[in-house]
Amino acid sequence: MAKPRVVKRQVDSCPVKGTAKVVKVGDAVLMRASDPGKPPYVAKIERMEADTKNNVKVHVRWYYRPEESLRGRRPFHGAKELFLSDHYDIQSADTIEGKCVVHTFKNYIKLETVGAEDYFCRFEYQAISGGFIPDRVAVYCMCEMPYNPDDVMVQCEACKDWFHPMCMRLSIEQVENMETFYCPDCGPQLQDKKSKSSLKRNGVEDVKEESKQGEPKQEERKRRKR
Ligand SMILES: [Zn+2]
Ligand SMILES: [Zn+2]
Repeated sequence: MAKPRVVKRQVDSCPVKGTAKVVKVGDAVLMRASDPGKPPYVAKIERMEADTKNNVKVHVRWYYRPEESLRGRRPFHGAKELFLSDHYDIQSADTIEGKCVVHTFKNYIKLETVGAEDYFCRFEYQAISGGFIPDRVAVYCMCEMPYNPDDVMVQCEACKDWFHPMCMRLSIEQVENMETFYCPDCGPQLQDKKSKSSLKRNGVEDVKEESKQGEPKQEERKRRKR
């Protein structure tokens, strides 16, 4: 007997099994991991197709969590950071648990509150080579780290660089109580000029306007400091 031809049609959306929710092409979704102890996978839906029985297959592009990348999680990776990979896949829509939002870095650091479904992405990730795009980002502080939006940073009044209180052996409270902050490089020379405008910043919200992420200046910075 001849096998019936499988007829597939493109669809724009499909229901999330067991819920009243619908996901659309272009959405970021959480997909059940095969290991129940693991957090759900995150993917971007590129395309969907349904067969005659309305079984929907989703064509996805995976987001990787830092721990799933070859180099693993690094100190500057945020808790909600994801990398948009070049790893594509086809999955049953039944594995979709729900929708999530993958913000740009710029929008993520402006969020007033970060919900469970909020993530951000600032790097593309090449799954085979482990490479990142962009491969260089601005670095801050004496530790010369890219900005982790989960960290509190304080800006030096003189050089305008941003610093982790911890890296200067200061508590967040100590930094908050300072009239003006000067980093160890600028502090000694500027002791007598401290009366000017006070600038005290901490937290993600204040960092947004002045952060320079994306500029390829890591190498310059390293040269200057050594
Ligand atoms: Zn630091
Ligand atoms: Zn400084």
